[in-house]
Amino acid sequence: MAFNNEVRNIYQQELDIIRSGGIFKEERIICAPQNSEIEVEFPIGSIHKKVINICANNYLGLSSHPDVVEAAHKGLDRRGYGMSSVRFICGTQDIHKELEHKLAKFLGTEDTILFPSCMDANAGVFEAVLSEQDVMIADRLVHASIVDGMRLCKAMTDTYKHSDMAHLEEKLQLHAKMRFRLIITDGSFSMDGDLAKLDKIVELAEKYNAMVFVDDSHASGFIGKTGRGTHEHCGVLGKIDIITTTLGKALGGASGGCVSGRKELVELCRQKARPYLFSNTIPPVVVSGAIKVIDLISSTTERRDKLEKNTIFWRKGLTEAGLIIKEGETPIVPVMLFNAILSQDFAKELYEEGIYAVGFFFPVVPKGQARIRTQLSAAHDLHHLEKALAAFTKVGKKFDILHKTKQEIIDRFGM
Ligand SMILES: *Cc1c(COP(=O)(O)O)cnc(C)c1O
Repeated sequence: MAFNNEVRNIYQQELDIIRSGGIFKEERIICAPQNSEIEVEFPIGSIHKKVINICANNYLGLSSHPDVVEAAHKGLDRRGYGMSSVRFICGTQDIHKELEHKLAKFLGTEDTILFPSCMDANAGVFEAVLSEQDVMIADRLVHASIVDGMRLCKAMTDTYKHSDMAHLEEKLQLHAKMRFRLIITDGSFSMDGDLAKLDKIVELAEKYNAMVFVDDSHASGFIGKTGRGTHEHCGVLGKIDIITTTLGKALGGASGGCVSGRKELVELCRQKARPYLFSNTIPPVVVSGAIKVIDLISSTTERRDKLEKNTIFWRKGLTEAGLIIKEGETPIVPVMLFNAILSQDFAKELYEEGIYAVGFFFPVVPKGQARIRTQLSAAHDLHHLEKALAAFTKVGKKFDILHKTKQEIIDRFGM
């Protein structure tokens, strides 16, 4: 059927359903570099407003760091703008290899291969290293890109209840006859901000002769004493077989991802992973910025330490104000509102108060678990957080949800 009016109407109706459900996503236009304070044009056409950003993945505040920007400029001058090639044809420069070596050293692994994004790393890695004889056993809350990557792989798929080690053990026993068992988890779960129990997972893997895969996108650079990630935090450095992570969050926030781990597995990705073979190489300007990022965070823990301080202040402040947050220790701090429309309205009111945060609801989180996900950054100073806290308190009061139980909020607003 051609794209006639009848077809157009069908798509229009689907969009109308999303809109009338109060869950239509609208982009806000940022007219400044990414930072703790940004200028935003919202709604489109309105005058720019200066707001505090509390929802970026800019955990270390490096997205617009002058040293990173300068390194990127130099990279642009020395190695050009684009490579016009995938890696294996003519898309590998000296700086790509340098970044791969630095990432392996930082993550404590044998080797690293860059991908255009972590989404691509996850899309390519499982298919490259597993086959029909193997089984993938994944935590039920893994990131969407892992789910997609597993779909592309011919190995058997199974799951275990979120962070439920007894359930994981059952699944490992169940699949004892398969050639390889690969346990798959996020290191830091992006929606709830909780950490995988990697110490227990590694213990089970050793007991049942399994391999371990960790996507550490929301941990690389700041979780663990020196920021190496969830494996450092859990005391299992060197024991994770495959780590995937992104350069698009704490590590400068531009773009790019990688698979890091056992050298044979990384080498197989170079031979077989389709996003590596069939998608363009990371541009030199981004590679140069990322090298500077790894140098910066390898030389000092100052930024991750400041982030940790900010996180403690913020978690304590929200709790004392009477809002419901998901407990944890990461800089991902979800403020639970349970109802999708409430989460949207709450975010709108926050914006009026000069705070940029976004409501999350189904399908990004399960139904009945709508929230505003706040994320701390080393770029936040105390005065930013104090202002944001005052705004959350004021808006919470306005909706009368301070010091209320989950049930009281649900009774009034619905799920
Ligand atoms: C953000 C994220 C990704 C995607 O990373 P990109 O490099 O932006 O594609 C993958 N996995 C997890 C767990 C993430 O949080």
